[in-house]
Amino acid sequence: MTKPKLTLYLAAPRGFCAGVDRAIKIVEMALEKWGPPVYVRHEIVHNKFVVDGLRAKGAVFVKDLDECPVDRPVIFSAHGVPKSVPAEAARREMIYVDATCPLVSKVHLEAARHHENGKQIVMIGHAGHPETIGTMGQLPEGEVLLIETPEDVAGLIVRDPDNLAFITQTTLSIDDTAEVVKALEARFPTIEGPHKEDICYATTNRQGAVKAVAPQVEALLVIGAPNSSNSKRLVEVGAAAGCGTAFLVQRAADIDWTALEGMSKVGLTAGASAPNVLIEEVVQAFRDRYDLEIEQVVTATEKIEFRLPRIVREPA
Ligand code: SF4
Repeated sequence: MTKPKLTLYLAAPRGFCAGVDRAIKIVEMALEKWGPPVYVRHEIVHNKFVVDGLRAKGAVFVKDLDECPVDRPVIFSAHGVPKSVPAEAARREMIYVDATCPLVSKVHLEAARHHENGKQIVMIGHAGHPETIGTMGQLPEGEVLLIETPEDVAGLIVRDPDNLAFITQTTLSIDDTAEVVKALEARFPTIEGPHKEDICYATTNRQGAVKAVAPQVEALLVIGAPNSSNSKRLVEVGAAAGCGTAFLVQRAADIDWTALEGMSKVGLTAGASAPNVLIEEVVQAFRDRYDLEIEQVVTATEKIEFRLPRIVREPA
């Protein structure tokens, strides 16, 4: 039987970012240095495949620090943690390694600087996401107010409307965030913002590539976990940029092939925490079903690499 023809438009950049790559390497190096078990507070990155792989090597994933024995090393995830967490690990005299992405740490420092300058902070982010919890937890309660949408701006109760700053989660939709910032600046004209937005280079580049792919395809597949903020944003950005339908899939087995029936142009991207092996798996699944042509849509190239913490680089 002849296979139907299909062109798969691969958005680039896609998949792993430098912060995710660094966090995974930290766990692997910690396992080599100290041997298993090594404890990891929260999923190191939001991807089940990655987490299961590290678990198989001896990583133990926990929700809270009090689930970790004091005589084993603990690693904090790429999303960042409230200040109280490393403080508690130090109090218990535990070995800990902070795998917070340096671009999230940059936002933490920004928040601390505004606080030192006496400003109250408005954070644009998603309630309950570990990055938001970690960033808000850099300062005493009440110093960082969380909003998600332009509509939330009207309900803000602030200490002094002329002494405010805003920060953002690193993985938001660029266009949606611009709308929230516009609403903030309309209500608080003197509010101070970041010199360049807090949305990171990886989020920006992946959304840019999706915007270039979306108008050319009938459907867009985003490989990513349902709890991955940047992956969910790619689905929304793709749908808003005109791809018709956009789906989030964790891996090839999740693809609803009947939904793609009759289509000849499909786009593919992957969130910053989705490993290359899953992208290859999905491409192979398309190859198995279609007479496949691949079209690369490259909108940026990335060469960023982050240094690993000294504690994992030094011998035991
Ligand atoms: Fe860092 Fe951005 Fe990757 Fe998050 S998505 S880990 S902020 S580079």
